[in-house]
Amino acid sequence: MTHASVHRGITPTPAIDRIARLCTYEDRGYTSLCCIFKGTLVQGYGQITLSSRLEGKRRKVRVHRYVWEHFNGPVPGGLPLDHLCRQPACCNPDHLEPVTDRENTMRGLGPDAQRARFAAMTSCKRGHKFTVENTRPYKGGRVCRECEREHRARNRDQINANRQANRARARLRGEKPS
Ligand SMILES: [Zn+2]
Ligand SMILES: [Zn+2]
Repeated sequence: MTHASVHRGITPTPAIDRIARLCTYEDRGYTSLCCIFKGTLVQGYGQITLSSRLEGKRRKVRVHRYVWEHFNGPVPGGLPLDHLCRQPACCNPDHLEPVTDRENTMRGLGPDAQRARFAAMTSCKRGHKFTVENTRPYKGGRVCRECEREHRARNRDQINANRQANRARARLRGEKPS
């Protein structure tokens, strides 16, 4: 956009319209159609330059973020937007969700994501390491022995109470206590 064209009365097109014209709806295997940006891609993400006249300071923006904020307002806390459809060029606002960095890392496919997932798979929910000594196979997965011990300790009183009740019932029925 030059000053000359402004003087000739040519109005720049709002970014949201420019984006819409550069998108095609495609079935990329998600629950609904992806809105794939066909303009400039940077690291797989759509990018456009905002017009200084219409959108304030001229700057490059990520298309998916621009579209989401256009419909929803600023992303809370400036969080990253995660592509639920795993298509970085998609700017369907229904396919985007603000996430914390950690959630995004866990969902992603990069080395950080793989490390985070690996860490989650090599220890139990409560952070005990899945060593050979600390695990036993159970229903195709594994059980954390440390958690099991803690669980048993917590339930010991309950288990003892149940045993006594069972013995009492057995006596009432005239059975020999086992
Ligand atoms: Zn999508
Ligand atoms: Zn554990």
